[in-house]
Amino acid sequence: MNDKIEQQKQFPDGMVPLGKSTFSFACHEGCGCFTSCCRKLDMFLYPYDIIRLKNSIKTHSEQFLQRYTRLAQGTHPFFPAVMMKMAENDERTCPFLEEYGCAVYKDRPSACRTYPLERAVDRTVKGGRPKEYYFLTKHSYCLGHNENKEWVTNKWLRDQQMLEYNTVNDLWSEIDTIFSHNPWQGEGAAGPKQQLAFMVCYNIDGFRAFAEQSDLLSQFKLDKFRARMIAIDDEALLKFGFDWLKFVLTGKGLIRRR
Ligand code: SF4
Ligand code: SF4
Repeated sequence: MNDKIEQQKQFPDGMVPLGKSTFSFACHEGCGCFTSCCRKLDMFLYPYDIIRLKNSIKTHSEQFLQRYTRLAQGTHPFFPAVMMKMAENDERTCPFLEEYGCAVYKDRPSACRTYPLERAVDRTVKGGRPKEYYFLTKHSYCLGHNENKEWVTNKWLRDQQMLEYNTVNDLWSEIDTIFSHNPWQGEGAAGPKQQLAFMVCYNIDGFRAFAEQSDLLSQFKLDKFRARMIAIDDEALLKFGFDWLKFVLTGKGLIRRR
């Protein structure tokens, strides 16, 4: 898309994409607002967020879901969203907030990493790759915007290690688009297929046990490297799970039966 067409593109509420513009921001313990953003939050968690968090605190994904999350209405009625369950105190603090700051900082969720940016992905580009846009967002209490460290978007994304998260989140977004067309048909919400899909997306340890018991992987043509990675790595298993769901629900996708 050239600059002229991009300028003509409409964004909600007059939001202006950052493009190559710079922005000022820094977040550190010395900010007077330190950890203000870890309170009174409504935070959605994506499948990869849950893998990173549950591995960070070394717990089973099912226990993680039970203890730290709650279900909520997603962007459509055919699949629930998962949100962080905030503490039941006046501040509704994040369960991972400690006096010294974030107890899971290196594995903090996508939402915590992206701020002060917001990401939008345009998947309607004909014949091309989806195009992403970033916007600067400001919470009134956040003093990080007054700091004089300058960033451009790409540098911020690298600094926050966002690219790995975005890659898996985009795969998740494709799967959620399939869910939005009600692939469960007569089963309705919370039927067996939807529950299985929920396990694939959010309960990766449960899906690993299911895949082993049902000998699922051996039913598909997978190259040796991928099969080895799936056996030891939750992210690789999640990506296989997305491919499997796509295959089962649409008959399409990147995997083939043996
Ligand atoms: S409010 Fe802003 S500057 Fe303060 S801790 Fe949160 S992100 Fe950092
Ligand atoms: S995960 Fe960490 S950075 Fe994110 S809200 Fe919780 S304590 Fe704050």
